[in-house]
Amino acid sequence: MGEYLTLSLLGMDRAELTTLVSEAGEPAYRAKQIMDAVYRLRVEGLEEISTLPLEFREQLAQGGVTIGAPRIEKKFVSVDGTVRYLIGFADGQSVETVWMPEGDGGEAGDGSEAGVEAESGPSTSGAKAQFQTHELNAGLEGLLHPRPNHPHPKRHQSRSTICISSQVGCAVDCQFCLTALLGIKRNLTAGEIVGQVCAVLKDQGVSPPEDRINLVFMGMGEPFLNYDNFMKAARLLVEAVGIAERRMTVSTAGIVPRIHDFGGETIRPKLAISLNASNDALRTQLMPLNKKWNLEKLISAAREFPLRTREYITFEYVLLGGVNDEPQNAREAAELLRGLRCKVNLIALNPGPGIEFSTPVEDRVAAFQKILCNAGIPAFLRRPRGRDIYAACGQLKRTIEIPPAREVQIQGV
Ligand code: SAH
Repeated sequence: MGEYLTLSLLGMDRAELTTLVSEAGEPAYRAKQIMDAVYRLRVEGLEEISTLPLEFREQLAQGGVTIGAPRIEKKFVSVDGTVRYLIGFADGQSVETVWMPEGDGGEAGDGSEAGVEAESGPSTSGAKAQFQTHELNAGLEGLLHPRPNHPHPKRHQSRSTICISSQVGCAVDCQFCLTALLGIKRNLTAGEIVGQVCAVLKDQGVSPPEDRINLVFMGMGEPFLNYDNFMKAARLLVEAVGIAERRMTVSTAGIVPRIHDFGGETIRPKLAISLNASNDALRTQLMPLNKKWNLEKLISAAREFPLRTREYITFEYVLLGGVNDEPQNAREAAELLRGLRCKVNLIALNPGPGIEFSTPVEDRVAAFQKILCNAGIPAFLRRPRGRDIYAACGQLKRTIEIPPAREVQIQGV
C-alpha cells in the first residue's frame, strides 16, 4: 500500500480503487463499496463507510488514506437565491463554487438549460423563430428585473446548476475578468474538482439523478489548461456521481489544441467557447491568448468539432459598453459563426473592482442580440446570477467582504 500513503479516495476511479483494494488483500467488490460511499453517499470520513470491515478501514487510515473531502469555508446567499461557496482544500488554498437554484427553462443561458438542449436544440427554423422571440423578451426581463429568491427552493430543484472551478486563480488574463487578477496559483486535482460538486450537493440536500442537476465548468480557471484532471473529474461525475454528460458544459477561453483533443473523448461535457470579440485586433486586446490562437484557428477548431446528434456549440460573448457591443461587432460575429451549429450566450459585463470596462445599456444589448438572431444565429441573454454577492460570471475572486453582509455562518468555522 506504500504508494497510496498520501492519496485521497475522492478523485480515484474504479481502476485505481480496484488496485488499492487488491493490494490491501481485500476482495474486488470493496472498490465498488468505496465508490458508492465516496461519490453517492458523499461520506467525509473513513469511519462513515459502514460497508467496509472495521479492520480494513483502520488499515486504510493507518496507511494515510483519507476521503479528501474539501471543506465549505464560507457561504454567501444572493437575493436571487444563488449561493457562492468558498471551498477550501488540504493545503489551505480555496476556490469558489456557485449554486444556482431553479433554472428557468433555458432563457438564462447560465447553463441551467444544459439538459434541455439535447431534447430541443434549435434545429428547425420554426423552432428557431420561437426560441428567438422568447429569448429576446425573457432576456430583457431578466436584465431589468432579476428574480427574487424562491420561497420554496426544495420543491423546484428541477434545473439547478452548479458552477465549478478547475484551477486556483487563472493564467489566461482576460482583461474584463476578476479571476484574472488573482493570477494562477495551481491546478486542482480531479478529486478537488469532483469534491466541489459533492460538497454542494450535500449542503443543498440534493442528489442526482432524482434531482436534476446541471454542471458548468465555468468557475475559476481555464479547464483546458488543466485538461487531464478536468477530464478525469468529468468522467467521475458521469460514472460515479451519476450526472449525465449532456447536463454538463465546459467553457474554454480558446485553447485550440485541447478543443481538438476534447472532440475525441468518448465521455465528454458539451462545449462552450468564450468568443468575446468579433475580430482579431479587439480579441487580442481583450484576451491576450488570441495572439497564440487567433480567431481563424479558433473558429476552424469549432467547425471541425465533432458534434453529436442535436448538440451544438455555445459561444459566450461578454458585452463591454462601447468596446465590443457595436452593431458592426454583431455583424462580424454573425459572419464568423455563419453555418456553425451554434448558439450565442450574451453576457452583459458583470462589474467589479479593478475592471476598467462598463456594462452596456439595455438597448445596446437588445440591438446586438437582434442582429445575431436576424442573421439566423440563436442568441440568448445570460441573466446575471448572484451579482450582489460576487457570484456572477467573471466575478469569482474569493471576495469575502460583501456589503451588505449576506454571509451565512458555517458551523465550526
Ligand atoms: N476560462 C473559461 C471558463 C470561465 S467561464 C473561459 O474563459 O471560458 C466564465 C465566462 O464568464 C467566460 O465566458 C468569460 O468570458 C465570462 N466572463 C469573464 N469575466 C466576466 C465579467 N466580468 N462579466 C461577465 N462575464 C465575464
